Amino acid sequence: MSSEVILQAEGLVKHYPIRSGVLRRTVGQVKAVDGVTFDLRRGETLGIVGESGCGKSTLGRLLMRLEEPTAGRVTFDGIDMYAQKGAAMRKLRRDIQIVFQDPYTSLNPRKTVGDIIGEPFKIHSEVVPRGGRRRRVQELLELVGLSPEHINRYPHQFSGGQRQRIGIARGLALNPKVIICDEPVSALDVSVQAQVVNLMEKLQAELGLAYVFIAHDLSVVRHISDRVGVMYLGKMVEIGDEDQIYSSPTHPYTQALLSAVPVPDPTQRGHREQIVLTGDVPSPANPPSGCRFHTRCFRAQELCSQKEPELVDHPDGVGQHRSACHFAEVRQVLS
Ligand code: SF4
Repeated sequence: MSSEVILQAEGLVKHYPIRSGVLRRTVGQVKAVDGVTFDLRRGETLGIVGESGCGKSTLGRLLMRLEEPTAGRVTFDGIDMYAQKGAAMRKLRRDIQIVFQDPYTSLNPRKTVGDIIGEPFKIHSEVVPRGGRRRRVQELLELVGLSPEHINRYPHQFSGGQRQRIGIARGLALNPKVIICDEPVSALDVSVQAQVVNLMEKLQAELGLAYVFIAHDLSVVRHISDRVGVMYLGKMVEIGDEDQIYSSPTHPYTQALLSAVPVPDPTQRGHREQIVLTGDVPSPANPPSGCRFHTRCFRAQELCSQKEPELVDHPDGVGQHRSACHFAEVRQVLS
């Protein structure tokens, strides 16, 4: 992993208007992503974790420019992505690819695997000459652990794990530098999840890829991530190295999420303090004042509902361990 930043999000905001009435007047905003900033370094994996509705998938689409942001910017290799048009944007699209969550719906059932994996070459014909495409698709199948002889098969002839491998092969077709992985193993059985995560780690080592790995499950993200960011209601509330987040989290939300992760060592199970989060996640159309987590936080005080905490370096942290909490304190977690 290099220290060189390849992808950077700065103050990224995505609000969706809520319209009502015959005139479809805007009566409110759903604040899906609300001021998110982070760096992704060349060859690293940044895990993004949070409950459903926290904005992590919207963030993934913004990083791909599948959506235009309300405010903020994304730079790839120093280039402002949202300022690019035409051929320049098309070139950028080659460098950032996505692997979707559901291998059952993201592959066209009427197309062969060869057509699905080779689809990107139709738009980016300069990457592989027409005569070499079949060979390249076969290479990609081999790269993800599938037989090149299966090039003429259809998606329904493969298992869920194999279909996700096909999705990964399609993501690799244009030799990207960054892959946005949007819950890539959530739809798979636990036994298959590890195989796909191991494959992604192998590909990263071989090809020098950087991943933004989005998941709702902290235990999945841990295995693959170098750093982890935790999101709550459109905000990044904590970000740090994998061992900082899992062993010494400072934000109460991270601490609560971690307390729910099963402890593998049975002798340690009774020693782990459980933090039960009360209430549901509030609506992103009407987030709580001050700290958005204050309605569910076990450490909340009066200040929390009045003043929004900023994401800042934690004084007890080592390196870049940032937390958005007025009363952040390190809590050692058994893992
Ligand atoms: Fe909890 Fe207050 Fe910290 Fe928010 S700022 S996480 S409510 S202690």
